[in-house]
Amino acid sequence: MLNFREILARLAFPLVIGLALGATFYFIQIQGIAINTVTFPVVFIALIVIALLERLIPFRSGWNKNDGDVGNDALNLVITQTIIPRLFAPFGYIVLAAVTAWLAAKMGNQLWPHHWHLIAQLFLALLIAEFGRYWVHRWAHTVPVLWRFHAIHHSPNRLYFLNAARFHPVEKVFFLLPETVPFILMGTNPEVLGLYAVFNSIHGLFQHSNIYLKLGWFNYIFSMAELHRFHHSKIINESNKNYGNNLIFWDIVFGTFFYPKEREVSTIGLYNPAYPKDYVGQLKAPFQGEVDKPADFYEREDYYHDLVKNEK
Ligand SMILES: [Zn+2]
Repeated sequence: MLNFREILARLAFPLVIGLALGATFYFIQIQGIAINTVTFPVVFIALIVIALLERLIPFRSGWNKNDGDVGNDALNLVITQTIIPRLFAPFGYIVLAAVTAWLAAKMGNQLWPHHWHLIAQLFLALLIAEFGRYWVHRWAHTVPVLWRFHAIHHSPNRLYFLNAARFHPVEKVFFLLPETVPFILMGTNPEVLGLYAVFNSIHGLFQHSNIYLKLGWFNYIFSMAELHRFHHSKIINESNKNYGNNLIFWDIVFGTFFYPKEREVSTIGLYNPAYPKDYVGQLKAPFQGEVDKPADFYEREDYYHDLVKNEK
């Protein structure tokens, strides 16, 4: 018989994200409330629920202890995740809207399937954005200069919901491109983008959360915590897998899907013990160190090769 912990492990993600999408759909589509008025409170309530679930059914109880990282992550949440996208918005709406108008005139406004159900449009938006994000993320792991900026996201030694916010502002802009430019160009409905924002935020919080989750066949659709924890592994051939931000589809297509069911991840984080832990130190980190030897990039490979050597 399944106990309370096992039942919650299976229901938490589909229930919270389902209710959040349902509430967003109801308030913006049926009640006609402004999108920005709806998305923030919905994500905020989900964030509180996720934080509580981490206490109720933790994946690793040790990961619930503040590692001196909460202040850094909170700054990332405010600066990188809230202020930076808003600075980026005028560019999107002024420059790209002009291109959109030109494209619409040429193509007769047929670029986006506005007649589809809103949830189907959301999945189309996810599939398109995820393609760009997949490659930006994969290059961030394999091109040394890009790893300099991405290492920050992999620097925590534990996973909990706020890790979802930790990105370098430069990389945040790179990630924003594939999830904004195609939609502005294709004239996607603001309602779909509102649903996308809710899905993306809540999925990210769950993906990095320290909640004991059992996703089952959802692991073949979403890039959820059970898969993403391997992406944060200290071992390079585990962390260079499961690049998906929301969906795991492109990892399956491009051969980077990694789902060992019989075990869980061991140590997570960077190999370099001297990597800065504070917000300002991490802002500066990509610009420091030897040009051809960015923080932790080759160290991770050496670490992996040593490990393989020792196993033989
Ligand atoms: Zn990564």
